[in-house]
Amino acid sequence: MLKKIFIILPFILLLSCQSNAQKSKTTTEFSIQKTKEEWKTTLTNNEYYVLREAGTERAFTGKYNKFYEEGTYQCKACNTSLFKSNNKFDSGTGWPSFDTPIKGNIGYNTDNDVGYTRSEIHCNTCGGHLGHVFNDGPKETTGKRYCVNSVSLTFEAK
Ligand SMILES: [Zn+2]
Repeated sequence: MLKKIFIILPFILLLSCQSNAQKSKTTTEFSIQKTKEEWKTTLTNNEYYVLREAGTERAFTGKYNKFYEEGTYQCKACNTSLFKSNNKFDSGTGWPSFDTPIKGNIGYNTDNDVGYTRSEIHCNTCGGHLGHVFNDGPKETTGKRYCVNSVSLTFEAK
């Protein structure tokens, strides 16, 4: 029985991400393209690590984890609007969590960095890594949890 679940699970994950994955762009298609050196002049070391090297900030350390002002969250690297504050919820995971992104501004990829397949999310304008999306979000809305690093975000109050 267990074995069966392990076989089926990757297919479910694949299927659930497929429609989004097909829309995601390859790195050469992002409208903002910069070299490593150029990014390093505009981003701090920690921002570079998360946004450009797909790093993860430590849980419960991010600026926007327990932050509930009204406004819009933008990409730290290029200021593209990514999430609205009314889609933010407290997931208890230690990272800012949203149930819905701003349509079209986020791209999806899959990664296996932690031993299972996850849906990676990034800014569709500059390719900056944001975090991952999981299927354990609020059931009363989308059921999605967009788990985002605070480091990847900047906030504009309403
Ligand atoms: Zn960006």
